[in-house]
Amino acid sequence: MAFKEKYTITQVYLTSPSKRRSGLLLSPSVKFIVAHDTGNPGSTARNNRNFYERSRDTESASAHLFVDDKEIIECIPALTSAKPEKAWHVLNYLPTDNHLFGFNANDAAIGVEYCYGGKIDADKAYHKYTWVIAKICYTYGLDPAKSIVSHHILDPNRKFDPDNGLKQSGRSYNQLLLDVISEFNDCTGENIPVYNFTAQPGSGKVIHKLNIRKEKPSTQADIVEIVSPGASVSFTGFVDNGESVNGNSKWFRDQNGNYFWSGGVV
Ligand SMILES: [Zn+2]
Repeated sequence: MAFKEKYTITQVYLTSPSKRRSGLLLSPSVKFIVAHDTGNPGSTARNNRNFYERSRDTESASAHLFVDDKEIIECIPALTSAKPEKAWHVLNYLPTDNHLFGFNANDAAIGVEYCYGGKIDADKAYHKYTWVIAKICYTYGLDPAKSIVSHHILDPNRKFDPDNGLKQSGRSYNQLLLDVISEFNDCTGENIPVYNFTAQPGSGKVIHKLNIRKEKPSTQADIVEIVSPGASVSFTGFVDNGESVNGNSKWFRDQNGNYFWSGGVV
């Protein structure tokens, strides 16, 4: 299976070692992707990379890829190098990345920055952004339906990216999650179902015995676990176009990518 190379990725690596680019390798490997925006309207991929280079020894925050309407710039090895390196794009002590993926983002995630606003063509930048995220999934064998998380979800009190940047392009984070799957399907020829996923972590209490279904919001999917009444079950969000049960097609998705029907919990 090949991946459609719709765009080129330009390597303009930061000087290493430096505070922004330590040269340490991601460890154990690439397990997920954190979606960011630059928070700086009108600033291009090249602008951001050059700013990082100038301030490489005074600041440590970094990311692997910057995407605008003209370029996809890789400033820390992620896709085009044999060995992806660490970037510092999420605070280390935050718990949600470990909870969802089992690792700290800075150890196991590629950070991708969306450039927006000013003279940047939002449609072109957005297409490049979804493509490069899909390409990371392909390169590292990640499931595009469950390997992407926003900076906002990891750091909800401080960060509002990439929701904010996407909003300025007339798009939402939830739309991004769907568009990455569509792009992955288009570039690989696969046919991963595009469920309308809304990221909204929470938990519910089981009413009757609850079947946790393997990877699909459907009573046809294998049961991976049966949860007893009264137990608490947590979820990362929901889909509203799963199999309709008693007229209700909303299913919650857990941190393993499995599903349970919303009618089974309160
Ligand atoms: Zn961010």
